[in-house]
Amino acid sequence: MPLNIDFRSDTVTRPTPAMLEAMFTAKVGDDVFGEDPSIIALEQKAAQLFGMEAGLFCPSGTMTNQIAIKVHTQPGDEVICDALSHIYLYEGGGIAFNSSASVRLLQGNRGRITAQQVLSAINPTDIHKPQSTLVSLENTSNRGGGSCYQVDEIEAIKNICEAHQLKLHLDGARLFNALVATKEKPTTYGLLFDSISICLSKGLGTPVGSVLLGTQSFIQKAKRVRKVFGGGMRQAGYLAAAGIYALDHHINRLAQDHAHAKLIAECLQKKDFVGEIMPVETNIIIFEVKGRLTPMQFAELMEKQHIKVMPISPTQVRMVLHLDIHPSMVQLTIDAINDL
Ligand SMILES: *Cc1c(COP(=O)(O)O)cnc(C)c1O
Repeated sequence: MPLNIDFRSDTVTRPTPAMLEAMFTAKVGDDVFGEDPSIIALEQKAAQLFGMEAGLFCPSGTMTNQIAIKVHTQPGDEVICDALSHIYLYEGGGIAFNSSASVRLLQGNRGRITAQQVLSAINPTDIHKPQSTLVSLENTSNRGGGSCYQVDEIEAIKNICEAHQLKLHLDGARLFNALVATKEKPTTYGLLFDSISICLSKGLGTPVGSVLLGTQSFIQKAKRVRKVFGGGMRQAGYLAAAGIYALDHHINRLAQDHAHAKLIAECLQKKDFVGEIMPVETNIIIFEVKGRLTPMQFAELMEKQHIKVMPISPTQVRMVLHLDIHPSMVQLTIDAINDL
């Protein structure tokens, strides 16, 4: 079988033999009855890691985000977020569909908004205006090229939310990438947010799953919403066991993905068909392809070398580093780019 080097997303990883072993040997039960020991262990482990009260294992990051929005809002309320947010762009209109909530989009800097922007987007108490009840941040920002927030900006946003009685949610699909890149502690984030969604199936390399974190009472409500959304699972402890394994073994190695992303970006920078490269802070490279190649043509040429990349706009390509991209593959990719 020819080598398959897939940079389209960090969701394409397959479980490692050691992760599969952990899954095979998992103890399971019916989680809708609250009887799956592996799921309970994963939820407790994730909550403890962030210093939060409780966790809820869900099939996807879309579901954890959408449950959080549903619990934090009432129909007609307004959610404040960056215009590039996954919750707005890539969750099928779920904010309207699931929560009947309105959205206030802010033009941030590579997916990150400021406390000042949040403050000016909060509606006054006025029956004409939707009630602002929730701010949602994304860290790292996917469409922002894996950009990371500075903690003091999040603190400033938190203070504004508290002063105006808004809840603060974090779409932390790639929060572990941010934590590794900035060397911050998970508990810092646990203190700042009312709810956090973390994905296990992105950089951490499990086949399925996300965990929603918050207070006991928030998670109680979230569990009800998960059931309504059809996300109550039975013997899913096999999947939770992969999550536990990933939290134990796959966090620190993210630094390697970040180093690989920088190496590939350095190579791209020298090519005449590459324009602006968004600053590479973590495992995502978003770059402009122009002149003698279009993003589609670049993708096709790479595909001939069994390397998959993703055109994400008429002018941009995205490459994402992950667990299944080994150092030798990074070198092959650099050689292939140099040959173009
Ligand atoms: C991948 C992702 C999610 C969740 O996606 P699912 O495919 O539903 O697990 C949420 N937010 C961001 C920023 C993501 O990249």
